[in-house]
Amino acid sequence: MGRRKKIVQECERLMDKPENIRNIAIAAHVDHGKTTLSDNLLAGAGMISDDTAGQQLAMDTKEDEQERGITIDAANVSMTHEYEDTNHLINLIDTPGHVDFGGDVTRAMRAVDGALVVVDAVEGAMPQTETVLRQALREGVKPALFINKVDRLISELQEGPKEMQERLLDVISDVNELIRGMTEEMDDIEDWTVSVEGGTVAFGSALYKWGVSAPSMAETGIGFPEIIEMERNDQRLELHQQSPLSDVVLDMVAEHFPNPLDAQPRRIPRIWRGDDTLDIARQMQEVDDDGEVVFMVTDISMDPHAGEIATGRVFSGTLEKGQELYVSGTAGKNRLQSVGLFMGGEREEVGHVPAGNIAAVTGLRDAIAGSTVSSIEMTPFESIEHISEPVITKS
Ligand code: GDP
Repeated sequence: MGRRKKIVQECERLMDKPENIRNIAIAAHVDHGKTTLSDNLLAGAGMISDDTAGQQLAMDTKEDEQERGITIDAANVSMTHEYEDTNHLINLIDTPGHVDFGGDVTRAMRAVDGALVVVDAVEGAMPQTETVLRQALREGVKPALFINKVDRLISELQEGPKEMQERLLDVISDVNELIRGMTEEMDDIEDWTVSVEGGTVAFGSALYKWGVSAPSMAETGIGFPEIIEMERNDQRLELHQQSPLSDVVLDMVAEHFPNPLDAQPRRIPRIWRGDDTLDIARQMQEVDDDGEVVFMVTDISMDPHAGEIATGRVFSGTLEKGQELYVSGTAGKNRLQSVGLFMGGEREEVGHVPAGNIAAVTGLRDAIAGSTVSSIEMTPFESIEHISEPVITKS
């Protein structure tokens, strides 16, 4: 069986096990390394072949894509990762990198339960770091921190261990100060500050593909003294092989980000303003795959063959081809023509997609980003102004 087919089969098996699913976003200030990190995770999870995984992967040029012979749509990818003898399905959603896309970022955050916040070690927390953190916390999305470009502290800034440590601790305390300030008014959120000891902070170089965290240091014996020495001796490849960034980050995701069963009971009352005594409220909180279908569309993209593809989070019920579903803000129903998952950037059609997953479907001709698609009429997740219709007041 081909490698891709195996991955597809494994994703299909795991999508029925919500306890093994992690829906995550990577969010960062522009240029802090979100794209480079996403490439690392894809390569590490085997979604890009080993020969290309050894090269520097940049997603944003056509030539690179041609050289690799694969087009990766960084917007949505699903991958599998084994952690503590259990395979996990990790659905990664891209967040638009510019502050102007505020609404889109919020929508992307609505689909996920964990946000990996990338901060450049040299620049530290920047205005967009604050913006994405605020968007995540408002949506009840748990943060973890990846401090990137640590190689630059060693090779460019020639910092010693003490200076490096001080700088990294400063970044962590700045990020925690932001988190603390934002969560103070939120009574339903526990302490979501990040910490090295707690395993919710990782460090590394997305460019050279190595990374460390407290658990990884304990496991591999590769810590800051080793990193400094190996970086200085130009042993970056060895460093990558001995402490690969993708393993460090995906282990952190599997261990510290909530699965849908943990996240939805807490998140639904925060993000959905409907009547909480209704069955549908309970079904969404319980991630009930036998319940009514509730699918929140976060993104619409065009596929040359399949046409419009709506991507989003299934909060309740199970999506299946042929279902007739309501689309918020429009009259009548739309019929699902196909149901799929994104794997390694390509959409794969599957028989069904149950609650707790990120799905990619066709046939929802009336849906736009932000639509709530459901099997019964319900209060939508957000009010939407449909351009083709009389304007509905925005909430
Ligand atoms: P994005 O805008 O957050 O997606 O950032 P990119 O991933 O496109 O990275 C921005 C620039 O920083 C690119 O030139 C990358 O090659 C570079 N970069 C990313 N990660 C690292 C790193 O760990 N070390 C160094 N030195 N450069 C990096």
